[in-house]
Amino acid sequence: MSVSQQVFLRDAMRRLNLTRDIFATRIGVKRRALDTWLLPEGSQEFRSMPEVVTRFVTEIVENDSLLQKYAQSAQSGPLRDRIAYQGKHQLLSVDQFSRESVEELFRVADLMQPIARRQKVSRVLEGAVLGNLFFEASTRTRVSFGAAFCRLGGSVCDTTGFTFSSMAKGESIYDTSRVMSGYVDAMVIRHPEKGSVAEFAEATNIPVVNGGDGPGEHPSQALLDLYTILTEFSRLGKLLDGAHIALVGDLKYGRTVHSLIKLLALYRGLTFTLVSPRGLEMPDYILEQTGRLGHTIEQTNSLAEGLKGADVIYATRVQKERFVGEEVEGYTADFQVNKAMVDQCCGPDVIVMHPLPRDSREGAHDLSVDLNHDSRLAIFRQTDNGIPVRMAIFAVLLGVEGLVQHSLRDVTWSPPSHLGPDDSVFHGLD
Ligand code: ASP
Repeated sequence: MSVSQQVFLRDAMRRLNLTRDIFATRIGVKRRALDTWLLPEGSQEFRSMPEVVTRFVTEIVENDSLLQKYAQSAQSGPLRDRIAYQGKHQLLSVDQFSRESVEELFRVADLMQPIARRQKVSRVLEGAVLGNLFFEASTRTRVSFGAAFCRLGGSVCDTTGFTFSSMAKGESIYDTSRVMSGYVDAMVIRHPEKGSVAEFAEATNIPVVNGGDGPGEHPSQALLDLYTILTEFSRLGKLLDGAHIALVGDLKYGRTVHSLIKLLALYRGLTFTLVSPRGLEMPDYILEQTGRLGHTIEQTNSLAEGLKGADVIYATRVQKERFVGEEVEGYTADFQVNKAMVDQCCGPDVIVMHPLPRDSREGAHDLSVDLNHDSRLAIFRQTDNGIPVRMAIFAVLLGVEGLVQHSLRDVTWSPPSHLGPDDSVFHGLD
């Protein structure tokens, strides 16, 4: 160290933008010890700091990305404040996340795994009520949000379909949202129009989660997709930075891919190949947003070309319900992700994903069922991950994530070891 210990430490705290208290916590020493290291060298109370601390702090300060990481985590306060949307504890878009905050959310999701896997129960949301307002078709999102809330001890009230709601009588989003706020403690909303969930959110101060706003975004799906990719990669010994992700299908109206590509773009040096039928390409504004972050983006109409060497294949359904007077052909047989195509273009450690539902009707050519017994198919691990991730979203938005660990009790019943008859042994991913 060419400068005095005092100057060295003061400089480190300034560059990290940390107070003494937080700096001491971050490097794992007592505040009292830090104070003695910060005294002028001649003073009686002065102590030299251990060599290992000098090396640790030097490494952080000299390494740009570590510096950024430590400086960011210095933004103290609860995660829900750091991801807040216009100052409210609401989740409307993946744009609310940084790489750091998304990984913090996933640490909460990890905490939820024993509950999601039915080994433990928790009641941290006992007494809270969720309003699940779905004005558009849904199976997974509605039930998994409901189950996630219940598994934290809360209760759920549902509405399904537009025609059975007061909106069919002409009620405004504002009125519906305000009325519901008097009944429930959080709302999940799915609505066919882009931007509509943000309108609901504006009319209330309770937590609102976007469960899909038309062709806009589907943030909780993208979060569980990213969580799945990271979990699968850690099993396979891969890193997400530098990976190759192939997104296939209706990239124009598929809200899951809109959210997912933006979330993945928080990582470094990714290659995206975008494979879509003509007319269903990814919107320009998303391409620009992703491109600005230095990722490689290639668009193609050839499935074989797009899948070549991919680490992740993410197939999607053609969103026919959103076509407005368009004559788009959808998938021809050439767009079908099936076993032959995956074998031909990718290695044994590729993972195949889909937000589901897959269209199993004849002629739809959506993701083939011939991969069902193939361990590379991660679709049910993906849906299973929806529970811990959605539990984490609720716990964070309602500010109870810190209570979960000590609230856990053993379950009283015995669930089956494999949930589905086709689950391979490693599906449980211990
Ligand atoms: N379930 C997803 C969604 O709601 C995907 C789909 O419907 O194709 O966006």
